[in-house]
Amino acid sequence: MRSDNQALLLDCGSGVLSRLQRHIGLEELDAVVLSHYHWDHIADIGCLQYAVRVQMDLGSRRKPLAVYGHAASTRFADLSYLDYCQGYPVDEARPLQLGELRLTFSRNVHPDPCFSIRLERTGSTLVYISDTGWCDALVNTARGADLLLCEASLYDEYRGRIPGHLTAGEAGAIAARAGVRRLVLTHLPHFGRHHLLVEQARSRFEGPVELAGPGKCWQL
Ligand SMILES: [Zn+2]
Repeated sequence: MRSDNQALLLDCGSGVLSRLQRHIGLEELDAVVLSHYHWDHIADIGCLQYAVRVQMDLGSRRKPLAVYGHAASTRFADLSYLDYCQGYPVDEARPLQLGELRLTFSRNVHPDPCFSIRLERTGSTLVYISDTGWCDALVNTARGADLLLCEASLYDEYRGRIPGHLTAGEAGAIAARAGVRRLVLTHLPHFGRHHLLVEQARSRFEGPVELAGPGKCWQL
């Protein structure tokens, strides 16, 4: 996510490091914010840390990379890397101000601690609902967002089969109840026909629904 004075990366799963550099130089990246420490959200963190090290050693990057994540895991210690990356703890009790962006965290329903993230600046709000089972609190987290980026790991017919994840229909229901302007589905299943996810979300939400994908950009 880019604002006027901040460039943030939300989660850092497999393949993100190479994709990211099609849009932004790593020397421009201010911070990484992690929802949790499952591999599909952190697989490229170590590679990113090495890349930052090379850039700082060669002088093309001057400041350490800030990496934010919860401290309820021994993995928090791995967010820091020598003088190149510095880990900072987050939790639901403390909003985080990064430049003009105000981030608040809310706890998800997931086997390991995991947080959704609400990012607000004057005039616009992005909400990222990361891995979670259904809970009514998600509606408050997403309330009135201009864009809701919501995980949709499951087709509706698999509802309840994989604990700690939402179906596309549930993502649509959150969007509708929260009154968001548009819904983007992410964390898509590795099987099936993804257009069905859009249809299932649209059955619950009348606003625009799209799939996240490589290279896609949204303006807020
Ligand atoms: Zn995940």
